[in-house]
Amino acid sequence: MSLLSQKTLKKAATFSGIGLHNGQLAKVCIKPAEPNSGIVFKRVDLKSNNYVYPSFTNVTNTLLNTTISNEFNVKVSTIEHLMGALFGLGIDNALVEIDNDEVPILDGSAKEFIEILTNCGLEKSSEPIKIIKIQKKITYNHGKKFISIEPSKLSLDINFKLKFDDCLIGNQENKINVYEDDLEEIFTSRTFCLFDDVENIKEKGLAKGGSLDNAIVVKGNEILNSEKLRNPKEFVNHKILDCIGDLYTSGYRIIGSVNCSQGGHFLTNQLLKKVFENKENFSIIEIKERSLPHTILNKNLLRSIA
Ligand SMILES: [Zn+2]
Repeated sequence: MSLLSQKTLKKAATFSGIGLHNGQLAKVCIKPAEPNSGIVFKRVDLKSNNYVYPSFTNVTNTLLNTTISNEFNVKVSTIEHLMGALFGLGIDNALVEIDNDEVPILDGSAKEFIEILTNCGLEKSSEPIKIIKIQKKITYNHGKKFISIEPSKLSLDINFKLKFDDCLIGNQENKINVYEDDLEEIFTSRTFCLFDDVENIKEKGLAKGGSLDNAIVVKGNEILNSEKLRNPKEFVNHKILDCIGDLYTSGYRIIGSVNCSQGGHFLTNQLLKKVFENKENFSIIEIKERSLPHTILNKNLLRSIA
């Protein structure tokens, strides 16, 4: 069986926890799914119209999380870290059953998602994976922020810059090759916010479940959490995790080179909309074992789940 064939979980993965924004408990059960079914969310607390597809066209909110909704306004929020973990592990097909409208934030990173999914093991099918190959450079600007994607040979590269001049975060930059590099520091990096923004965020009705257990809070040159940074570039590494998760709303893995400065959920979503509005910008190819080396899936992760 090829590493380049579609994969799902060997058995169901269950976990629970509170949502970062709604503060409510949700139980999640990620079940194996048939080849070519993709990642699908199902709100099991509702009896009908309860399937929500994590497509960039279904993204309805990008404020401090990525929310998807179906045509009946049934939504699932904060999907990005779980989507990043599914992308990184090469999971093509899975049914994510959830009994509330927000994916648990757990520790604010994708660390536990990776552990839970890895423990289930992966089942390979005989169907080849499909992948999106970027054919033209596309850029989306928003004030001083920008994101672009351009063709690359075989990799998905993400180069991300953060600029927080007047606090501890500072100017961070990191570049990773998603299919080649060890992604541990990406998956274990937690979400973060500035202490000065907390009140404003709460006034908007967000971050009801936010605490020092699931987000790094930065006050000036200090981190308020007792657990200090997990890696020196944890802030920008978390933004790269968000970017990977949001890119998976394209439906497949991607071959391309992403450059982003101060972006986030909104910019990544706008970029995908721009890429897919013109067929000349991309092609969708089936990856067969003979045509490509195995580098298309992350070797470090594959080793850990073999
Ligand atoms: Zn995030």
